[in-house]
Amino acid sequence: MSVVVLGSANLDLVYEVDRIPAPGETLLSRGFAAFPGGKGNNQAIATARSGATVRFIVALGQDAAGDRLAAEARRAGISLEDRRTDAPTGTAVIFVDRHGENAIVVDSGANAALTDLTESELASIAAADLLVLQLETPLDTVADAAAAARSSETTVILNAAPSTTVPAGLLGQVDLLIVNEHEAAELAGEPDGTGERLPVAALTGHGCAVIVTLGAEGALVAVPGREPVKVPAIEVEAKDTTGAGDTFVGALAAALDRGTRATDLASLVAATEFATAAAAIAVQRKGAVPSIPTLKEVEEFRE
Ligand code: ADP
Repeated sequence: MSVVVLGSANLDLVYEVDRIPAPGETLLSRGFAAFPGGKGNNQAIATARSGATVRFIVALGQDAAGDRLAAEARRAGISLEDRRTDAPTGTAVIFVDRHGENAIVVDSGANAALTDLTESELASIAAADLLVLQLETPLDTVADAAAAARSSETTVILNAAPSTTVPAGLLGQVDLLIVNEHEAAELAGEPDGTGERLPVAALTGHGCAVIVTLGAEGALVAVPGREPVKVPAIEVEAKDTTGAGDTFVGALAAALDRGTRATDLASLVAATEFATAAAAIAVQRKGAVPSIPTLKEVEEFRE
């Protein structure tokens, strides 16, 4: 399976603090570490670890953070189509207190400069089996990439996260939409549409298949005009659910049958079962990227 991921990459700067600083306060950190992050980057790594051939279209700054993210992606076996911009590499500053509460500031940096797809980027999308998109890069670019994929035979997966308003018509260009419960409700314009009232039919009404991830409950797979199928989560002791959603999306992309379209319920359910196992491994480990399992680990876990 050849997959193009187009999306964000950030360096996550994580400070362990006694408490989240108050306005005007200066605190000493108890510990610091920098980790690769960003939904595009995490999903590209998850797709590659699940065994697919991955090309990652990303904008990075001409700085040490950009070099580090590029090197780590390459080490994961990803072929990079990286633009180096004048803007700095995206960063997230994350304070985590003793209770695990956090406060986060994200600077999109170079990610915001991923505009006007080049001929070479469009050709990569057209040549791939599958395109994976999220919403941490400019929405016009996401829409252009989906349109380019649609005019070739490339299957389009949109992980509509983080929650935002998507351009009219984008969902009509998507084969498979992956969202969590909260994002599903937001996207359907039904803020109370969670639990039993999940607005699945409103989303499949755009002509796409929809997978709603439900945390420890598992995931719901829905295709237009058919009853949704529930795939239960695997019961494990969750240590850290950071990156579970990105692991799920990447593993699912790698596991889909080539040429899957919005009506291929059997292929979607089989890939969801694989992604559920990958995510169940990820939640038992700390961190985002370090928690993403390899194909071999998922296969052994499923035996
Ligand atoms: P997000 O982090 O994007 O909100 P979810 O919390 O829905 O996504 O998690 C994505 C997937 O990860 C779920 O569909 C499920 O397969 C798996 N998962 C999440 N939390 C757990 C858990 N506590 N135990 C087992 N699997 C989990």
